[in-house]
Amino acid sequence: MDNAAPLSIVRRMETETDIVIAGGGLNGCTLALALASAGFQVTLVDPLAKSARGGDAFDGRSYALSIASTRVLSALGVWSALKAEAQPILDIKVTDGRAGEGPSPFMLEFDHAEIEEGPMGHMVEDRHLRPALLDALDAAGVTQLDGRSVQAETPGMSGITVTLEDGQTLSAALLVGADGKKSGVARRAGIRRMEWSYDQTALVCAIAHEKPHESTAHQFFMPPGPLAILPLKGNRASIVWTEETSRAAEIQAMDDASYLDVLRPRFGDFLGEISLAGARFTYPLGLSLAERFVSERIALLGDAAHAVHPIAGQGLNAGLKDVAALAEVVTDARRRGEDIGQTDVLERYQRWRRFDTASLALATDTFNRLFSNDNSALRLIRDIGLGVTNALPGLRRSFIREAAGLTGDLPRLARGKTL
Ligand SMILES: Cc1cc2nc3c(=O)[nH]c(=O)nc-3n(C[C@H](O)[C@H](O)[C@H](O)COP(=O)(O)OP(=O)(O)OC[C@H]3O[C@@H](n4cnc5c(N)ncnc54)[C@H](O)[C@@H]3O)c2cc1C
Repeated sequence: MDNAAPLSIVRRMETETDIVIAGGGLNGCTLALALASAGFQVTLVDPLAKSARGGDAFDGRSYALSIASTRVLSALGVWSALKAEAQPILDIKVTDGRAGEGPSPFMLEFDHAEIEEGPMGHMVEDRHLRPALLDALDAAGVTQLDGRSVQAETPGMSGITVTLEDGQTLSAALLVGADGKKSGVARRAGIRRMEWSYDQTALVCAIAHEKPHESTAHQFFMPPGPLAILPLKGNRASIVWTEETSRAAEIQAMDDASYLDVLRPRFGDFLGEISLAGARFTYPLGLSLAERFVSERIALLGDAAHAVHPIAGQGLNAGLKDVAALAEVVTDARRRGEDIGQTDVLERYQRWRRFDTASLALATDTFNRLFSNDNSALRLIRDIGLGVTNALPGLRRSFIREAAGLTGDLPRLARGKTL
């Protein structure tokens, strides 16, 4: 067969756009929306069909969104569609515990009344968040190429050529890798990763319970890992329950009644009778941090740049701050007449987000090692730590502000302003 296609066909297959985003997960979709709101032509590519990415069947997953994250969604016009279904978090209780023993007397409690901004965050279900983002993308006219993946990219002086698996090529000024923790964009750009597995797996489900949760989130530090009980609308909660990977596989293989029998003693009876309110999922846990967030005409964000342990529920919150920072850097660069894919423009983004996210990766790693064990000396140290922090209002407030995403140099979108 003759491989030399006529020039007219080659031209027809190459599409020009300002920015290609590889990955239509929560971060990729939010970035596409932010960039479109600033007037960029955006093409979003994802191997999954839209129905698989944004179906409204409840799959048990929910996210604790910080104040900064809800401000980003609000500035992009998405929060109004989510607010009614979002559960405010008014109180957070953190304790050490062992299955069947109940919580230790050393409790750390964070109350939203200690800050002026209102609830410390909101629980939002995946089945609401994804469709809201996809609807907003349709309304904003973002080009979405579903069922296709980015396979290769060739950066050059004036732009980057992105090749999809079906051979279509896109030419753009910038390619953003929002393609998750196994990012092919990062790998092909030669960006190395610091990564390890925790030999822990998160068992995730939603439960219905008899007594009201009072808008309180609970974190129990159990020897195999943290158990988070996060309030959802109504008498329901999202469970993120960490176990050693082999034990998690055994528990996941059980029928629903046996699964709940294992969960109950870890959980206690403070919410009354419990039952499952959706499907059960497992997520293997690890840390994966890209050593650089940028390369020639390429920027990484979200899990493609940093995937962390969910111990603090901060992975997506960090990704949405990346989104806000990158969108601001390229918008300002264009206003100044700069080439948005130029290395010094992209390095501004990297300087803004690299330290913050590396600190988050280190903090979640340290907390997980300190709390996920049954060593009695460490248990004593952490119980004293919880008690001391609880006794110091200033320290407690600074933890709340950190978790709510209100510290540091916040991008405009994370302050609720437009680009
Ligand atoms: C158990 C658990 C609980 C969590 N709870 C919270 C929480 O409460 N709060 C919080 O802030 N965070 C939480 N997180 C973290 C959060 O879920 C992630 O950080 C976030 O979902 C990552 O989104 P992403 O868009 O960066 O990546 P992903 O969701 O991994 O999306 C990547 C996308 O890229 C696509 N893709 C892959 N390859 C290609 C290719 N070649 N070309 C194009 N596209 C491609 C994929 O199909 C996918 O759609 C939790 C995580 C876990 C595991």
